[in-house]
Amino acid sequence: TLEAGVVAVQGDVEEHAAAIERAAKTRGREVTVHEIRESGIVPECDLLAMPGGESTTISRLIHGEGIAPEIRAHVEAGKPLLATCAGLIVASSDPNDDRVDELGLLDVTVERNAFGRQKDSFEAPLEVEGLSGDDPYPAVFIRAPAIDDVESGDAEVLASWDGRPVAVRQGPVVGTAFHPELTPDSRFHGLAFFENDAASVSAAGSGADSSES
Ligand code: GLN
Repeated sequence: TLEAGVVAVQGDVEEHAAAIERAAKTRGREVTVHEIRESGIVPECDLLAMPGGESTTISRLIHGEGIAPEIRAHVEAGKPLLATCAGLIVASSDPNDDRVDELGLLDVTVERNAFGRQKDSFEAPLEVEGLSGDDPYPAVFIRAPAIDDVESGDAEVLASWDGRPVAVRQGPVVGTAFHPELTPDSRFHGLAFFENDAASVSAAGSGADSSES
């Protein structure tokens, strides 16, 4: 059984847990999801999601609780992390906001709330590099950040919208400006956790039934 963690200090935690369960079930993998509000749990986890919410709050709490260094160690060990929206901001190398103490797990600069007031919330069909299936991915953006300055680091752009990158991958880390946990389509969780060759869950292929069916 895979042990999954959702950083649960603030934000949309249950939706991520459900999406992880759907993605695992599709692949015949068993998973137990842990909600992380304190230190000591991340080291037990095979995969991790850091949800949307409010990035300054999430940053403050994960540092205050001692969870931040555990997330860094998780990624350094090659274990997958899916960081979405506010989670992406916290995982970036430059959130452009002093109140966010970044983890520096993705070599990207982000601009918070970049898509403007009229478009606080919208859905966009994304063409995504490496995503299974032919259909575009229905991406829900809510006061979403945009990703800038990918050229200077090792992050690979997986999808763009309005000419700006909105999904990136760097080793075991996948970051999205949108909310893949808010649609029934769990292909993004599949991509981040089970189809990323740079991450341990996919590479190890642990369990008898890890092959795609
Ligand atoms: N606007 C939020 C922030 O900057 C992120 C929004 C979200 O996670 N939906 O922290």
